[in-house]
Amino acid sequence: MALAYTPLDDITKIHAELKAGFQTGKTKSLAYRKYQLLQLGYLIKDNAKRFEEALAQDLGRHAFESYFLEVNASLSEILECYKSVDAWAKPDKPAFNVNFVFMKPTTYKVPKGVVLVISPFNYPMWLIATPLAGAIAAGNAVVIKPSESCPATAALWTELLPKYLDSSLISIVNGAIPETTRLLELPWGHVLYTGSGRVGRIVARAAANTLTPVSLELGGKSPVFIDPDCDFKFAAKRLLWGKFTNAGQTCVAPDYVFVTKGSQDAFIEALKLTYESFYPETTGPSPKPPQNVTKMVNAQAFTRVNGLLQNSKGTVVCGGQTDEVQRFIAPTIVRDVKLDDSLMSEEIFGPLLPIVPVDNLDEAIAYVNAHDHPLALYVFTQNEVFKKKVFENTLSGSAVANETIIIPGVPGLPFGGIGASGSGYHTGKYGFDMFTHFRASMDTPGWIDKILGFRFPPYTDQSVATLRSRMPIKLPARPAGPPTGATSTTQRKWFLLAFALAIVGALTRMKNLQLKN
Ligand code: NAD
Repeated sequence: MALAYTPLDDITKIHAELKAGFQTGKTKSLAYRKYQLLQLGYLIKDNAKRFEEALAQDLGRHAFESYFLEVNASLSEILECYKSVDAWAKPDKPAFNVNFVFMKPTTYKVPKGVVLVISPFNYPMWLIATPLAGAIAAGNAVVIKPSESCPATAALWTELLPKYLDSSLISIVNGAIPETTRLLELPWGHVLYTGSGRVGRIVARAAANTLTPVSLELGGKSPVFIDPDCDFKFAAKRLLWGKFTNAGQTCVAPDYVFVTKGSQDAFIEALKLTYESFYPETTGPSPKPPQNVTKMVNAQAFTRVNGLLQNSKGTVVCGGQTDEVQRFIAPTIVRDVKLDDSLMSEEIFGPLLPIVPVDNLDEAIAYVNAHDHPLALYVFTQNEVFKKKVFENTLSGSAVANETIIIPGVPGLPFGGIGASGSGYHTGKYGFDMFTHFRASMDTPGWIDKILGFRFPPYTDQSVATLRSRMPIKLPARPAGPPTGATSTTQRKWFLLAFALAIVGALTRMKNLQLKN
């Protein structure tokens, strides 16, 4: 399906119209924001079937995945914003400070203005709806730029947005590189870019020209650590589900799996059994390739992922079938993958799961630490020590035990990368905060100068002495030596003594009260 791109000349006009819409001040009203959020919810609810059809057209995706990970996840995000915006938008008071309390220090949550959301292809509904909800809740005007690689879904957004939402505040620009480049020439209150690190660098450079703040939600290779003593059946099920959902085109998809050399065979057996239970059509007298699996988004993606598979020196143990015309790559498990294999050369973003045998956990941790910080990191273990060792000796956007891919949808948790996997956090309150300016404010009464009048020139020895005595900063006593990290026996003893004294004090007070009564 051909998507009508926005004429380049219209882009500056759209930006100006939204700026004028924002300046009317109507988004200051929380009731107004909530109405727009509700409308966004109904846009999705009323048209869920149409979105599922568009997603099937763009990605060859089964309705189950689209409903679960896009429709349902979007509605849940919108509802959270709707229910919480009153609390999120409330001004904050800082902690009590005797020097400043009478100056009424307050943090106001104000919208950043007209913001831009640039989305990737892989979840073309959720990755529009979620940032849009955060931006609306924060009171901004918003331009969204969907991925041109999912034209049916982009066209549906283009048709529905003006029907449900205030067009003077929310607009859409369709297109590819020229259109996005034009958008990035303009100054924005904030840009949220979700996509590849390669384009992320282009976006960050363009934003620097206009001093636009930018959040980058990028990808990378998310590793999985398998404890040789964990429940393999359980691990295999969650791992294959997280990897093969949306044909591996998920930013937090498990990218590759570390197992110890001694446990690879047993783990592969568990993976094979799970594979056959997920795709029963692949077994029996006339086996077929897996059915009902999402396709590669376009020919370019097929060629890239197929190239990684064909160049691998590992051994395919499940899947491996491809069909260029259908852009189909079967969910595929590859064993005995070496660290210099094609499958380890870049983010796979396709349904290929390399199993990488290593001598021990330390080797796996060292490999991860020698590369870009991943967006997600997974361990499968029932052993706290194993989990702690991996989590405490690595750095990643998120760290997850015994689960895959659902962490971005967990209410209350931030979702974002670190280093090459991104910067900034979105979803829920974190999305609201990203699109909000924290405007510090104070209002100092005149009488304060009776106390602080000494700050004004001319400076004298007397004013210096007053400053030193009235505004002393007391540091805590320095410990005898640098702390070791662990609580020392002496510190523990002092703590126990203080605790015992507090209890004795409380008991004595209670006894005195009883005597008085
Ligand atoms: P992409 O970078 O190719 O495209 C994303 C957007 O950037 C599209 O809207 C596209 O039109 C625009 N774009 C492309 N080239 C551009 C250029 N030269 N100048 C300006 N704009 C340009 O990414 P994609 O292939 O759609 O998405 C896949 C990537 O996104 C993966 O790396 C994945 O891990 C990442 N991702 C990250 C998250 C996250 O939240 N961290 C979520 C989903 C996807």
